[in-house]
Amino acid sequence: MPEILPVSSEFAERLRALRKTRKFTAERAAAGITRHGYRIERHTIAAIEAKNVKSVPIDLVVATAQFFGMTINGLFTGPMCAGCSDAPPHGFTCDVCKKSGTAKTMGSQ
Ligand SMILES: [Zn+2]
Repeated sequence: MPEILPVSSEFAERLRALRKTRKFTAERAAAGITRHGYRIERHTIAAIEAKNVKSVPIDLVVATAQFFGMTINGLFTGPMCAGCSDAPPHGFTCDVCKKSGTAKTMGSQ
């Protein structure tokens, strides 16, 4: 298994979070990203999210940002979870990312 490069690793996490947040299947994300100019298959999305790739192409990053209606910068800097902005209230578990709002675990990622 190749070791994924840092920015590509971040992308992998963002892609997965965005896809889960919007409740898109890998298949739907693949179709949408393909429509925005980067031909990709469902299994490749799965491999990237599982970090079974070394790096992702810039063309994929651009097409993904367009598909989700974001800038490339926004893709990397916004909260991972649109449901709770990465900070579910104490005592609650976010439906989207499944994080639970127990004291100060958020900063440790
Ligand atoms: Zn969440």
